[in-house]
Amino acid sequence: MSRLVMKFGGTSVGDVDRIARVARIVAAEMKPGRGIAVVVSAMSGETDRLVGLARGAAGEGGNGDRLSGKAFDDEYDVVVSAGEQVTTGLLALALRRIGVDARSWQNWQIPFKTDAAHAKARVSDVSKELIGPSIDSGVVAVVPGFQGVTEEGRITTLGRGGSDTSAVALAAALGAERCDIYTDVDGVYTTDPRIVAKARRLEKISYEEMLEMASLGAKVLQTRSVELAFAKRVPVRVLSSFVEPGAPNPGTLVCSEEEIVEKQVVSGVAYSRDEAKVTLLGVEDHPGVAAEIFGRLADANVNVDMIVQSEARQEGRQNIVFTCPDRDAPRAAETIEGGKGKIGVEEIHIRRDVAKVSVIGIGMKSQVGVARTMFAALAQKGINIEAIATSEIKISVLIDAAYTELAVRALHTAYGLDAA
Ligand code: ASP
Ligand code: MG
Repeated sequence: MSRLVMKFGGTSVGDVDRIARVARIVAAEMKPGRGIAVVVSAMSGETDRLVGLARGAAGEGGNGDRLSGKAFDDEYDVVVSAGEQVTTGLLALALRRIGVDARSWQNWQIPFKTDAAHAKARVSDVSKELIGPSIDSGVVAVVPGFQGVTEEGRITTLGRGGSDTSAVALAAALGAERCDIYTDVDGVYTTDPRIVAKARRLEKISYEEMLEMASLGAKVLQTRSVELAFAKRVPVRVLSSFVEPGAPNPGTLVCSEEEIVEKQVVSGVAYSRDEAKVTLLGVEDHPGVAAEIFGRLADANVNVDMIVQSEARQEGRQNIVFTCPDRDAPRAAETIEGGKGKIGVEEIHIRRDVAKVSVIGIGMKSQVGVARTMFAALAQKGINIEAIATSEIKISVLIDAAYTELAVRALHTAYGLDAA
C-alpha cells in the first residue's frame, strides 16, 4: 500500500472547468494499492474576497470602532476558511462525475489540529486514524488546505499561502511517498524566467537550497511548507496543473541532499528588490552595543537580514550596516533615533533603492573559488557591491537596485546555468 498527497492551488481550481480538469489529473494518478488525498486551495480570488467581507463586517473603512486582535481573528478564520471548504465539495463532485469514488473531509472530521494562534496557526497534530484507512480502501479524500481546528474545535487558518503547508503536514501524517504540489508553473527554475530567458527547470533541488530560494524571493512554495518537508523528510514535487492529464510533467523534486547525485556548486540565482540598507556611523564600540541596537530592532519587529560591522576612523567608534525589508526601513531608523542616547550613534543613513542578489548551491560547501566567480562577474559589469553575507550554501550581495537584472543574468551565465 502506498499513499500520495496532491495539492492544487487557487488558479488550478479557479472555475468549474478547471476543477473538472483537476479531477482528471487525480484520476490519472490512481492505481491499485495507492491511496490518494488531495488538498485544495480556495478558487482564485476567493480568499481575498472573504478577507474583504470579514474586514467590512468588523468595521474597517466605516465610521467608529473597528474590531481587531482577539475579537476579530477567530471569526476571521471562520469566514476565510470557507473558501477551501467550498472547493473540497466541488472537487469531490467532479471526481464522482467521472466515476472516481471520493469524499470531502473537513478538518474537524480528520481531525487536523493546530494551536490557537488564529490567522497564523501552526499545525500541531494530524490524525491518520480515520482518513488513512479510508483512502487505502480506494476513496479519494479531498481536504481543505490553509486551516485546522484547535483542541477546543474552533477553526483556525495558517496564514496566507498556507495550503502548501497543509499538504505537507498531511503527507507527513499519512507517511505518503510524496507530496505533489500542482501550480501555475512547471517547476522550480534556476532563476526567474521573466528576467533570464535561458533559465532552466531543475530536476531536483535539496530542501536547504529550496529554503534559501524561497526565503530569497522565489515564490513557488510557502517557506514554512519547505521547512516542514525538510523536518519530516517528505519529498515534495512542484509541477504544472496545466499539462494534459497523463502527459509528461516531471516538475521539480524537492528532496534530501543525499538523493542528489550531481551536486551543483550553484543551483540557482535569487533576488529581492524589497531591501533597504541602514548605515549607522560612529556607533560607540563597547560590549552590549550591538545587543542594544538589534534588541531594539527586534522589539520593533524589524526583520534584520545582513549585518556588517567595521571599525570607524575615530578611536572607540565603529560603523554598523544592516539590511531589512524596505517597508521596515522608516521604523528601523526611528527605533535607532529613539535609542541614540544608549547607542551613541553619530549619523544614520538609509538607502532604499538596493537589491539583494544571491547564489545558492549545496555544492559550494566543498568547493573553493565560488565567491571569486561571483565578484568577478559583477565587477566585469561594473556593479558595485555594498555588503556581502554568506552561509554554507549561499552568497548574497547587496547592490544598487537598478542593476538587479543585469547582475542576475551575469551570474546565471558565470555559473554555467544558462540553457543551451
Ligand atoms: N487560499 C489561501 C490564500 O489565498 C491559502 C492558499 O491558497 O494557500 O492565501
Ligand atoms: Mg500558493
